[in-house]
Amino acid sequence: MLETKTLAHYRTIASDLALPGLAFIDGEFCPASSGRVFENINPATGEILGTVAHCETADVDIAVAAARRAFESGAWSRTAPEERKEVLLRLAELVRREAEALAVMESLDTGKAIADCLHEIGNEVATFFQWYAELIDKVFGKVAPTGEDALALIVKEPIGVVGMVLPWNFPLLMVAWKLAPALAAGCSAVVKPAEQSPLTALRLAELAVEAGVPAGVINVLPGFGETAGQAVGRHPDIDVVSFTGSTEVGAHFLKYAGESNLKPVGLEMGGKSPFIVLDDAPIDDRLVDEAVSSALWNAGQNCSANMRQMVGAKVKDEFLSKVLDKVKTWKVGDPLDPETRIGSMITKEHQERVLGYIEMGRREGAALCAGGGRPAELPGYFVEPTVFGDVRPDMTIAREEIFGPVLGVITVKDEDEALTLARDTVYGLHATVFTRDIDRAIRMARRLPCGTVSINAFTEGDIKTPFGGYRQSGSLARDNGTEAMDQYTQTKTIWIAVS
Ligand code: NAP
Ligand code: MG
Repeated sequence: MLETKTLAHYRTIASDLALPGLAFIDGEFCPASSGRVFENINPATGEILGTVAHCETADVDIAVAAARRAFESGAWSRTAPEERKEVLLRLAELVRREAEALAVMESLDTGKAIADCLHEIGNEVATFFQWYAELIDKVFGKVAPTGEDALALIVKEPIGVVGMVLPWNFPLLMVAWKLAPALAAGCSAVVKPAEQSPLTALRLAELAVEAGVPAGVINVLPGFGETAGQAVGRHPDIDVVSFTGSTEVGAHFLKYAGESNLKPVGLEMGGKSPFIVLDDAPIDDRLVDEAVSSALWNAGQNCSANMRQMVGAKVKDEFLSKVLDKVKTWKVGDPLDPETRIGSMITKEHQERVLGYIEMGRREGAALCAGGGRPAELPGYFVEPTVFGDVRPDMTIAREEIFGPVLGVITVKDEDEALTLARDTVYGLHATVFTRDIDRAIRMARRLPCGTVSINAFTEGDIKTPFGGYRQSGSLARDNGTEAMDQYTQTKTIWIAVS
C-alpha cells in the first residue's frame, strides 16, 4: 500500500514531471508522421498541459508493421515462459517504483482524485503485471484421448498483433487489464488511448522497454477515435481488437471487422447497473457507504456505476436520509488533494452533458435532494455530487448512462418488482443486491442478466475474477482472471500419427 502524502507533496511532483508528448512506436518516442499535434487539457483547471502527437492512419500502419515484425521475430512471442515472466515481474516493480509520478500524471491528465489514482496504479496496475507474469509458466495444454495410433495435442498460441482502443475513465488501469494478459500470451500490441488521457500509457510503454520488453512489442499512439481508432479497427494486419468504451463505438468496431479482415473483437461497454436494497437489508453504515461509493466513485465516470438504486418501500426513507448524510462527506475539490473524493469531469462537454441529465431529471419530476450544480469556487469542469429521490423507472436519468456523480433512488414494493425493473435495460454489466436472506440473494443473482452480480457489497470482483458484460454491455470476451487469456490466444490441434 502506498502511503498517502500531502497536497504540497503531490503539487511538487506535478511541477517536476516531464509529460510525454510523442507517440511510442518500435521502442522509441517519435512524432506523428504528419508532424501534427493536439492539445492535452487538465480538466480540473482548464489549462493546457502540453501537446501530444496526433497519430492517424499512416502512424497506425507504421506501428502495426513494427508490432508484426516484433511478433514474427519471436523476440517476445517465442521466448521461454520464464523469460517473459521475469520481464513482466520487473515491469510490475517499475510501476510500483514510479507509482506516485504515474498517479500524479494521471490525475493531471484526467482530473481524477489522486487517492483513486494512487490506489489504481500503485496497487492494481502493478499487481496486474505481476499476476499475469506469475501465470505464464503455469498454463498447460491438453492431450486428447485418441487411440494408440495417434497423439493429439491441443495447444494455445498467441494470437499475434492486438489492437487496443481504450477509454479515459481508468486510463492506465484499462491498459493494464488488456496489456498484461496480452503480453503474458506473447502478443504484440498497438494501443490507442483516449484522446483525453494519453499520458500514462505512453510512460508505461517506456517503462516496459526498461523492464526488457523488446522494441515493437508495445506501441502507443495518441490520436482521435474517428481516425486512429478507426484505422486500428479496420487494419488488415491486426489479429484481434480489444475495446473498452461506449456501446455506440463498440458497434462501430464490429462493422470495421466485418468490412476488413473479420478480426475477432472483444467489447467491454456501457452499463446502467442496478443497486438493489431489499426490505430486509440492514441500512447500516457499510451498506450506505457502498451505496454512495457505487454511484460516486471516480466521479460517477464508471461503466459499472450503480446509479439506479432500487430500494424497498419499508426502508427507503431511512436509506435516503442516511445516503444524504454520507454524500456530505464526499469532498469535491482539487484532484491533487488527498482528501478529495470527487475530481472533475473529463471535459467541459462532458460536464455539460451530465448537468443536462440533472436538468432533465428535475424536469421529468424527480426530487432533487442534494447537489445538482457546478461548485462555484472550482475553476475546472466539476459537478456536485447529486442525489435524486422519487425517481421513476421510465425517466431518462433511470434509463441512460449519465457517467457523472449522480445517485437516483427508485422505490420498489418487493423482490419481483426490483428484478423486473433491474432487467428492463439493454445493458448487463453489473448488479448489486443487499438482503439478509441467502435464498433471495441466490435467486436474484441467478436471474440478473449481468456479467457480475455482487451480493451484500458493491464490487467488480478482483484480478482473479472475469469482468465483462451481458447484452449490449459486452461481447463474450472477458477481462481479468485466467479468462482474459482467451482474448489473446488461439487454440491449435497438432495430430501426430503413431505407427
Ligand atoms: P468512447 O467514446 O466509446 O471511446 C472509447 C475509445 O474509442 C476512445 O479511445 C475513442 O477515441 C475511441 N473511438 C471513439 N469513436 C471512435 C470511432 N468512430 N472509431 C474508432 N474508435 C473510436 O468511450 P469513452 O467516452 O472514452 O468512455 C466512456 C464509455 O466507456 C462509457 O460508455 C463506459 O461505460 C465505457 N466503459 C466500459 C468499461 C467496461 O469495462 N465495460 C470500462 C470503462 C468504460 P477518442 O477518445 O479519441 O474519441
Ligand atoms: Mg487530458
